[in-house]
Amino acid sequence: MKLTYFCPDCWHETDGQVDVCPNCGYDLSAYEQLPYEQKLLCAVRHPVQDIRLLAIQLLGQLRSAAAVPVFQAVLGSEENIFVLREIAWALAQIGDPSSQKLLEQLASHRLPMVQRLARDLLALPMGGDKHRHQRGNST
Ligand SMILES: [Zn+2]
Repeated sequence: MKLTYFCPDCWHETDGQVDVCPNCGYDLSAYEQLPYEQKLLCAVRHPVQDIRLLAIQLLGQLRSAAAVPVFQAVLGSEENIFVLREIAWALAQIGDPSSQKLLEQLASHRLPMVQRLARDLLALPMGGDKHRHQRGNST
């Protein structure tokens, strides 16, 4: 993942060679020391959609409980249907009470596509990942 080429704080693009973000002064070398899960949590707000989707997907696979409040914060203003759907999938995979609750909120989301997906996911057994084999995510 090309996460290090963006400042994880302000998302200013860097050349990957600097230790401090030239835009906001964020300590990029400290970011390098962060645990993998923490980097993924930062990447949920990445400006490149593919990286956001990947981070959300990986957090789902990790069953990251820490991702749930981050997803919740993103969902408030998120309009991107791909991101919304990926978050719904990840929540279903995390499968703890807080992710379940957020998925229930998505079941009444303003976008019908998100609503439908959340309802389908809620109908599946909690934490199950067998359903993921159908996803065309290879390209
Ligand atoms: Zn920055």
